[in-house]
Amino acid sequence: MARKNGRASHWKAIFACLGLCSLSTTALASDVSCLASERFKGATQREADAPLIVETTTFGGIIVINQVQADEARVAGEIARDRARHFLGLDVPPFVIAAKNVGALQNTGGCAFVMRWVLTAPENGYSKLPSSILPHEIGHQIFIQFLMPPTGEDEYGGSAPDWLDEMAALAFEDARGIGSRRSAARMLAQSNGLIPIDELLLMTHPEWKPRSSDAEPRVWGVPMQPTSSQTFAFYSTIRALFDFLIKETGDEQVIRRLVEHIQANKSVEGWFEENLAVDHSDFSFNQVDADLKAYVLTSAEYSNSDLYDTSSIDRNRNN
Ligand SMILES: [Zn+2]
Repeated sequence: MARKNGRASHWKAIFACLGLCSLSTTALASDVSCLASERFKGATQREADAPLIVETTTFGGIIVINQVQADEARVAGEIARDRARHFLGLDVPPFVIAAKNVGALQNTGGCAFVMRWVLTAPENGYSKLPSSILPHEIGHQIFIQFLMPPTGEDEYGGSAPDWLDEMAALAFEDARGIGSRRSAARMLAQSNGLIPIDELLLMTHPEWKPRSSDAEPRVWGVPMQPTSSQTFAFYSTIRALFDFLIKETGDEQVIRRLVEHIQANKSVEGWFEENLAVDHSDFSFNQVDADLKAYVLTSAEYSNSDLYDTSSIDRNRNN
């Protein structure tokens, strides 16, 4: 799922950084009562007549119109919270997932953010989106809000390079999403279609267009078809690179390490050289490309790419 123009400033305008932008520790401020109903003035309007389901969850809360939506939101939110801990080292403060069709909603309380989403609502003609997309989008939100906030207008996401912003979101996907990304990467590797890494590091997101050329504001929670022929390779190569970097560095929080490196004003290319070269005089991105391709074509995860193993994440769950 790609984002389009204006997202960063959209979120920036609605939810300022809550004073948490420059983190020194992984434990973020927490407000367990963030879902208190008085903090959501206006959450009583909706398109159907039955009462809303407003429920506190392990990650914060949900505001939905039926049990199917509740299950969908609960699963996505729990995955996102676990992935934030596991891959970003962040204990994210409570956030809310709210169905698009619950009507107007104003967060006046202590919730870190509210993710409005088109949850299943067949009565309104919406069909269910793939289950990997909502955790992916929550991943973008968490990455931008807590690790690399925007520094200017017309950025694809925050101030991070586009590939790193997308890598963080891909790290949040569920087993189904990971399996399909890996299948795609394998297919590309077989046809020499992975994007060369030195090129990827400088790429503007294929779905990004300058905001000035887009009169329409982004409509949240609506699935988009990719508009660039490069999009498929962009996502697939980033997924493969993420797995490859974890394998090479032995560090599952490699995204966080890259963020720290960039925030220290050091070069991304330098990070790759420091972390991937056996002998620094031998480092080349051509070699990285060759190693990445070999990894995708030979590793077990990519040969059984529809069987993503979440056991290592489950073992590390705090609760
Ligand atoms: Zn994305």
